[in-house]
Amino acid sequence: MLRYRQEARYCLTALAMLAVAEMAMSAPAHADETPIGDAIHDLPLFDAHVHYKEPAWDAYPVKSIIELMDKNGVAMGLVSSTPDEGTIMLWEYAPGRIVPELRPYHGNAGSSNWAKAEGMADYLSGRLEDYPHEGIGEFHIHSLDTSDEPLFRKVIAMAKERDIVIHVHSGTEPVRWLYSLDPEVKMIWAHAGLGEPASAVHALMSEFPALYADTSLREHAILGDGGRNEGGGLDPDWETIVFDFQDRLMIGSDTWVNGQWDRYSDIMASNRLWLSKLPRSVAEKIAYKNAEKLFNRTISMDQIGTR
Ligand SMILES: [Zn+2]
Repeated sequence: MLRYRQEARYCLTALAMLAVAEMAMSAPAHADETPIGDAIHDLPLFDAHVHYKEPAWDAYPVKSIIELMDKNGVAMGLVSSTPDEGTIMLWEYAPGRIVPELRPYHGNAGSSNWAKAEGMADYLSGRLEDYPHEGIGEFHIHSLDTSDEPLFRKVIAMAKERDIVIHVHSGTEPVRWLYSLDPEVKMIWAHAGLGEPASAVHALMSEFPALYADTSLREHAILGDGGRNEGGGLDPDWETIVFDFQDRLMIGSDTWVNGQWDRYSDIMASNRLWLSKLPRSVAEKIAYKNAEKLFNRTISMDQIGTR
């Protein structure tokens, strides 16, 4: 009798588990959990798109950058700068808060000509020797020129040798091209393509199951009409992207001009607003857990106020 009861209980449990699994499969993945709401303010953020460019150095000394991060619960940031010295200054001041990333731009090499700049591969390998960068980027590919293939092959080889990411600001076509050079390169797609429509973002993220993206400059698109209405939901197309690729998205500020540092608290508030509309498990991933995984770090509010 006892044995029967145990078996019966086991069967019921198994049935219940099946029912739950079935519900999970038939209902939209995001219909069954309540949004995290105001508790979003208790989560640390990882800002996956920080620049500390030369014009910011005087207006925003390193100390003030970390204070801005503290004020907004940004525990860590992925930083790349023009020139790289900005990143290194920030990382030397607060190594516990900064993940340094090597941007190619320096001297006359900027976003539109860097891939053709004299000595670029040597510059990159020299900086990577000298400092512990964990990515190469953010770099732009404004329009794809396949004659740059030899340099890009070197960039990919440098990244893979160190097991670090490349961080690419481009449309969909250059991402496909880079993966065609090496399907195993680790890549973050800056701004999730910025100018690309949600449908193209969804298609590319589906096509490349290891591709990460930062959503900097996308927060208002993601909020859609909900951005004007605290109680509203997310833009429906972006909501699908956010749920389907919840394991590969990270938020970001893109402090490409000082105006972005001036607005830093507003930018982070917009990010917390859209994250607040997600279930806790999803919000946590996009806020910081995906970055923990990608950069092999522990990220927590305990880092606030530290360096
Ligand atoms: Zn940028």
